[in-house]
Amino acid sequence: MRTLSFALILLLGAASAGALAQTAAAAADPLAKPTPPAQPAAPAAAPVAPTAPPAAAPTAIGPAVVVPVPPAAETVFAAPPIALPAGADASAVATSDAGTDAAADPGALPPAALASDPDINILGQRVTPGSRMRVMWRAGTSFIGDPMDVPVVIVHGLQPGPVLCLTGGIHGDELNGVEVIRRVMASLDAQTLVGTVIGVPIVNMAGFSRGSRYLPDRRDLNRFFPGNPNGSSASRIAHDFFSQVIRRCSAVIDFHTGSFDRANLPQVRGDMRIPSVVELTRGFGATAVLHTPGAPGMLRRAATDRGIPAVTFELGAPVRLEPAEIEHGVNAIETLLNNYGMTQRVRMWREPQPIFYESRWVRAPNSGMLFADVRLGDRVRQGQRLGRIINPLNDDTSELVAPIRGRILGMALNQVVLPGYAAFHIGEEASEAQVIRDATIAPTPTVETERMDEGAAGADAPTEGSTEQVEEFGGS
Ligand SMILES: [Zn+2]
Repeated sequence: MRTLSFALILLLGAASAGALAQTAAAAADPLAKPTPPAQPAAPAAAPVAPTAPPAAAPTAIGPAVVVPVPPAAETVFAAPPIALPAGADASAVATSDAGTDAAADPGALPPAALASDPDINILGQRVTPGSRMRVMWRAGTSFIGDPMDVPVVIVHGLQPGPVLCLTGGIHGDELNGVEVIRRVMASLDAQTLVGTVIGVPIVNMAGFSRGSRYLPDRRDLNRFFPGNPNGSSASRIAHDFFSQVIRRCSAVIDFHTGSFDRANLPQVRGDMRIPSVVELTRGFGATAVLHTPGAPGMLRRAATDRGIPAVTFELGAPVRLEPAEIEHGVNAIETLLNNYGMTQRVRMWREPQPIFYESRWVRAPNSGMLFADVRLGDRVRQGQRLGRIINPLNDDTSELVAPIRGRILGMALNQVVLPGYAAFHIGEEASEAQVIRDATIAPTPTVETERMDEGAAGADAPTEGSTEQVEEFGGS
């Protein structure tokens, strides 16, 4: 929380730099209008963030409150030292703050995108400060030539600040994030927002309209970022979206759910080897955080490769709309907006801090019908039975047992399974430092997690292998 508060101070400080200059000018010119611009009436008894230390909770929080940044703060709140793993693209990490003065703070979202021009130009439209606009991104045309237009909602605050991007529906059958983004965007007020929020609830409109995870050609869009303007259809769509929208973002939150009849407890996944990603994961309130490096072609990995901190936000199961998961997602994003000083609303969380986990999968020992004994979010002890697999042909029954004490972060819905099927995803609580250390030392074990939930080709998703190979070998 201290670090987040620091980020908030930094951002407020950065956002206030212009106001400071104006204030100085106003002092010299008695006729000048006072700055900052008139604020809307503060809500009665504006609450103070319950978890923020006093130094970071100015009671007069408003759009242009000037919060002096003590020089010492940078050292006090510096992120823990993180050694880059061998082979990591140091330049990608280093460029995360390119163009800003916040290089010493890997966590602050760079507001540089708006520094020179108060308007934001996106998809051929000019959005002025203090306004909201819905513009269309043309993802291409359908097989019969109909345009595939995707709404992009921009809420551009009166005051400059970070550009937070929310993307959903890259897998067209994953619905919870679509509703989270819709609610968050509808709740934002451009008059009081600091910075900009860009929401794209349904990136893969073609998949969404057919209730399918994939693009019409069975490709997984989340394997083609940042794309190629001369590549396959999926690669072109990815490139256009990445260059026109994602490159404008200071940070990206990409919403997903479990895939193929699996459900996930709300959880944020990011590459914890990247300091700006670690900082981002701290902002979602009481949300589980997992390290996963991200498979090549995933939106968040393409973003972090270009210095834009990005995470995946997993919420529930595909194909359905789950009120509790959606509520969690909305709360988490509102908390993030607060933590970055972009909004001033306060949410009460029972557990305000993120919970970091290391995780492992429990696989089916035999084939048969899976019946779970546990529910998503349950805490289990080592040796506890998680479920049974019953063979309908010979009545043989086998058990799945928890190898560790932990929490059910993800699980397969009851279904017919084959031997080796990943049925339960168990998280073991760990400190943030531990997660970062292990991610740096052994970054690969949790690649499996993405194979399960984010659509990488693997034994459990045989239909996806061919498209990736086609792309990889230049077949299209
Ligand atoms: Zn997904």
